[in-house]
Amino acid sequence: MDFRTEVRAWLDSHLAETPTPDPRAWERELGQAGWIGIGWPEDGGGAGYGNRPAPLTHQVIWAEEYARSTAPPRMGHIGENLLAPTLIAYGTEEQKRRHLPPIARGETLWCQGYSEPGAGSDLAGIRTTATPDGTGGYTVTGQKIWTSLARDADWCFVLARTEPGSTRHHGLSFLLVEMDQPGRIDVRPIRQMTGTSEFNEVFFDGARAAEVVGGEGNGWAVAMGLLALERGVSTLAQQIGFAQELDEVIAAARASGAAEDPVVRARLVRQWAELVTMRRHALRTLGTPGDPGAPSVAKLLWGGWHQRLGELAVEVRGEAGAVGPQPWSATTPYELTTAQHLFLFTRADTIYGGSDEIQRNIIAERVLGLPREPR
Ligand SMILES: Cc1cc2nc3c(=O)[nH]c(=O)nc-3n(C[C@H](O)[C@H](O)[C@H](O)COP(=O)(O)OP(=O)(O)OC[C@H]3O[C@@H](n4cnc5c(N)ncnc54)[C@H](O)[C@@H]3O)c2cc1C
Repeated sequence: MDFRTEVRAWLDSHLAETPTPDPRAWERELGQAGWIGIGWPEDGGGAGYGNRPAPLTHQVIWAEEYARSTAPPRMGHIGENLLAPTLIAYGTEEQKRRHLPPIARGETLWCQGYSEPGAGSDLAGIRTTATPDGTGGYTVTGQKIWTSLARDADWCFVLARTEPGSTRHHGLSFLLVEMDQPGRIDVRPIRQMTGTSEFNEVFFDGARAAEVVGGEGNGWAVAMGLLALERGVSTLAQQIGFAQELDEVIAAARASGAAEDPVVRARLVRQWAELVTMRRHALRTLGTPGDPGAPSVAKLLWGGWHQRLGELAVEVRGEAGAVGPQPWSATTPYELTTAQHLFLFTRADTIYGGSDEIQRNIIAERVLGLPREPR
């Protein structure tokens, strides 16, 4: 059986009975079957933790077939794709042995504690502090914000200031914090305009961080290393989802008659052509890692593209596009159609993972050699 057939067969058989399984139980199912950690870099020592390393082509096939299936969005992607490769690059052997196997089994979920109310694009403005607690760990105090999945996560990697009086990117450390610390960690969901709460505020009040990754004071290098991690494979999978969404918008435009409008037709064709361009870009850069502008170009392309698709999804439905699926009520004030949810959620696409303005700054400075921004 070729690999794509094997992947399809596994997904079909495991989704046959429950096409939309509980996302947390599903992570364990993926882990038991060895689907987590297939892309961990082997040359850095990313094998032997219960994962099943696979060649790049297999990673792409797995991601594509996953995107085509009815499987739920991954809850474990922050641990699998951000924390694990960071530990493989910067962690001690003991840290790898402790954290990688439960990630590979789909048992531990992670969240990312970088952003703060005064430190988003300007991440070096971090004010959360951590002081050594005398037992090899740290005591963490401060506030993080926009922390995706913090309510479900078992662990959080936190960028905190460990050197008193330090400024900017000096004196920071990359700490591992267990989330189950009642009274010391308070997670408050942030209600978004979609009505859901994917992200949260996280308050640390004397919380214990058991470990530091990459050494005390070296947090900026570790944090930047994490942000620079290769995202080519997940980008290709993301585009499968985009193609499905575009197909759905085109079908809706046909059904409503909006496709007869030459302006709408032109906008649909533009979306289609840009999606082809994004795929070419992803395939080209997948084979040539290290291109300093490639991740920023990809982010600029897809963020704006997805936002425009969200706008089209509502517009092609005409007046019906503005009407909710059922009358609003006090308990479900945000009952939304899929198109409305897409429209509202995609407002965030040009912000997270580095805003469009920041991506343009990166390209200006690192690729075009334009004058640096005043700091
Ligand atoms: C859906 C979602 C999920 C997220 N998940 C997480 C998470 O799990 N963990 C985490 O740590 N963070 C997360 N974030 C936070 C995200 O990283 C920040 O929102 C982002 O970095 C922008 O920071 P900010 O919100 O503080 O905006 P600011 O940095 O205050 O920016 C405000 C505006 O000013 C512009 N701007 C800022 N600086 C410059 C500049 N130098 N030049 C030109 N324009 C500039 C920005 O582009 C933006 O338009 C998430 C955000 C979203 C929307």
